[in-house]
Amino acid sequence: MDLFEYQGKQYFARFGIPVSPGGVAETVDEAVAQAERVGYPVVVKAQVLIGGRGKAGGIKLADSAAAVRTHASAILGMDIRGHTVQRLWIERASDIAHEYYASFTLDRGARKHLGMVSARGGVDIEQVADEDPGAIARLHVDPVDGLSPVNARELVEQAGLDLEARDGAVDILTKLYQCFVEGDADLVEINPLVLTPDGRVHALDAKVSLDNNAEFRHPEWQDYRATEVLDERERLARSKGLQYIGLTGSVGIIANGAGLAMSTLDVVNQVGGSAANFLDIGGGADANVMANALEVINTDPNVRSILINIFGGITRGDEVANGIVRALERVHITSPIVIRIDGTNAEEGRAILKAHASEQLTSQPTMLDAARMAVQLANATGVRA
Ligand code: GDP
Ligand code: MN
Repeated sequence: MDLFEYQGKQYFARFGIPVSPGGVAETVDEAVAQAERVGYPVVVKAQVLIGGRGKAGGIKLADSAAAVRTHASAILGMDIRGHTVQRLWIERASDIAHEYYASFTLDRGARKHLGMVSARGGVDIEQVADEDPGAIARLHVDPVDGLSPVNARELVEQAGLDLEARDGAVDILTKLYQCFVEGDADLVEINPLVLTPDGRVHALDAKVSLDNNAEFRHPEWQDYRATEVLDERERLARSKGLQYIGLTGSVGIIANGAGLAMSTLDVVNQVGGSAANFLDIGGGADANVMANALEVINTDPNVRSILINIFGGITRGDEVANGIVRALERVHITSPIVIRIDGTNAEEGRAILKAHASEQLTSQPTMLDAARMAVQLANATGVRA
């Protein structure tokens, strides 16, 4: 789960990472009230889950109530690369001498945490990585050992931060690592980390992505769920307890097992199609789960065909086929459906599907055939009725 900047900063603050004082606003009047409370000059910042807000005009300095009013009106409702601004963060403006970059993330390949620091902050870090990879200092941290202050200093020195920023940066890195580990994050990123002309170092931006698997030990994350931006499909899937991720293609996907669901996406791509979603219905595929899955896919206006890909293991193919048939009696599906069943009792399953075959419901013996047919149907079907 990704946090908004203001939530990320509040998260940072819990671990003692210095951030500027500020407040959230959802209206122009609230923005002015927050600015009056915080004290001028302030920065008016769009709260969207995408970077590059500065370039898009979503971050403006304001030194008076009138300026806050102007900028807040312009930024609220603004579209920043597909994200509509519904909330602002108004914070005390900082004077900036230098902008740096600092982050911790998980390097799954190395099975370690990865700390990155650069003296080239405030710009897109991917761009720095492309143009000047040497400008990013990297350090793998063994999760058992943790990050020592000595490690943090090495990282800061290797990155070549200005001398007067080093103590502050080491302190922040130590706390940022703590925030990353104890805060159960997958990513914590400060870009820019700034040095002010009077020698203070603090976080001017915050990107925090929390590890959903750790939610059980963080009841306080409930607050973040409340402001989470989900599309209609994802909201419905969450309410039904399905492992669903919305994508932008036209073939709706239902598979049992995350690995099979991912392979299905790949195969659809391979034959020239694009998936509308990832959906793993798990081990058991009874009528209830199948009906829920179909209902979620049904709410997606981009779906032109549905590909159900099931490998019978403990769940037998005939059970799955019966589940599909019963689910179709309950949910009115408008798109054509292609089914591939293999594994335990696949023959029995196919026989059941065959008995219910129609123009809308077809079965194919292999994953590749099924994907081909689903893509062909998706391309042939115009605007859905
Ligand atoms: P992003 O564009 O979405 O990454 O948003 P940031 O919060 O990182 O802000 C982008 C840029 O705006 C920063 O790199 C700064 O140059 C500038 N900026 C943000 N806050 C302040 C501030 O308090 N004072 C000044 N002078 N510039 C700021
Ligand atoms: Mn930034």
